[in-house]
Amino acid sequence: MNDTPENFPESQVPENTYKHLAKQLVSALISRGIKVIALDFDKTLITLHTGGAWRQGHARLAEFVRPCFRWLLPAALDGGLHVCIVTYSMQLTLIYEVLKAALPKCDYNKIIIRGNSKDWAQVQGATLLGKQQHIASVITEISNKRHAIVHPNELLLLDDDIDNIEVAKRFGHKTFEVGRDVSLETLLDVFKSNVQL
Ligand SMILES: [Mg+2]
Repeated sequence: MNDTPENFPESQVPENTYKHLAKQLVSALISRGIKVIALDFDKTLITLHTGGAWRQGHARLAEFVRPCFRWLLPAALDGGLHVCIVTYSMQLTLIYEVLKAALPKCDYNKIIIRGNSKDWAQVQGATLLGKQQHIASVITEISNKRHAIVHPNELLLLDDDIDNIEVAKRFGHKTFEVGRDVSLETLLDVFKSNVQL
């Protein structure tokens, strides 16, 4: 496992530039009808794969949160989007602590976390494939607690796993496959274009 945070060119650009790019990205997402951003954890929010068995503490793991998401998540919450983490990991307390450490200035409590834990019920009628159970549970919570209806094409799944992406597409969600080169600039290029998601 590579334990050195990857070097991102964007680390050299002034903070207000990224704030601005993140805001632009949120506007682009909203204009494409997106209300919910659902992010995978391993190799998506963070650059490495914990295998659900991270033992080095949240502070160390927080160093691996991708810079683009450190900017995007607060901007998304500010812009009124719902944000959730959908993961096969069972280390949900760890993920919560990572969010808290990586996003100190944002209302990370608003981020809904769905992992492979037993603290949420299977959603009847939703497939067991991919991240669909996690997504269905998030949509149900948003409906029950926030009184907002989310249609399938209003949810964007960001995931490094093509299988999860393909399943989500089949069920009508918008998707983006996260690769090593993901940045605010690459995301903005995609979401400002007419590329089918
Ligand atoms: Mg992953």
